[in-house]
Amino acid sequence: MLLERVLDAVQEFSILAVIFSALTIASGGVAALRPSNRQMRNWRLNLAYFAFDLLVLFPLMILVSQWIGSLFTRDTVALPFVFSPYAVFVMIMALMVSDFVGYWRHRLMHFSWLWPVHAAHHSDEDVTWFSLVRFHPLNRLVAVIFDVAVLSLLDFPVWAVIVSNRVRHFYGYLVHSDVNWHYGPFKHLLVSPFLHRWHHATDIEARDKNFATIFSFYDLLFGTFYCPHHVPTSLGVDDRAYPKGFVGQLIYPFKVWHKSLFDQRISKPL
Ligand SMILES: [Zn+2]
Ligand SMILES: [Zn+2]
Repeated sequence: MLLERVLDAVQEFSILAVIFSALTIASGGVAALRPSNRQMRNWRLNLAYFAFDLLVLFPLMILVSQWIGSLFTRDTVALPFVFSPYAVFVMIMALMVSDFVGYWRHRLMHFSWLWPVHAAHHSDEDVTWFSLVRFHPLNRLVAVIFDVAVLSLLDFPVWAVIVSNRVRHFYGYLVHSDVNWHYGPFKHLLVSPFLHRWHHATDIEARDKNFATIFSFYDLLFGTFYCPHHVPTSLGVDDRAYPKGFVGQLIYPFKVWHKSLFDQRISKPL
């Protein structure tokens, strides 16, 4: 079972690496594939997140999503997928609802008390398709609980929950890729790699902008759309104290929460 999962993940990783390397070459030439020392360090850290997800977090997420699904689904019979115009409509609705949920969940993760968890995703200064794997385990658990709970509560069939999850996952790889695609007039409809790059920018004017994964009209609707013509000055977390290592990033939120609790306690007179 574990070996099968590892082989599947390695196969998916290899296919994605070939596709996105080809896109990088098409966009910036072969030289764009030559990594700097910083890019190598970021890739090693992403690889640590990838291995941790695969060996530790993934089995836990399957259990949590099944448990959450069983709590909220009224119809416990899993309906099979049968292709029809109605099934396509259900699929599009599931995608729109899950991206709406994803938008607000992501926006919530930028609040000061959840930011220490989400900062891990923003810590990659060289955003590439592989940056998508860089999420703190708590961030992943919050995501799976929110997304599965809402879609199950709305009685979407299990296949629609799974397919929308996979579509958002693979589209997420595309929006993190280091290609300079803007989508022209469609930039107000779909999130492009250029648009999401601005979400990762350290530029002050881009702070808390572009939260959606697929549909950029949610950002437009809720006042967080930001898409200038130039590229960001730099990407990453604008905090020199943020840890650069895997273990440091894992324990960082707990350290911050402990410190703020402790500081509050000692600042209160007895
Ligand atoms: Zn974010
Ligand atoms: Zn991102």
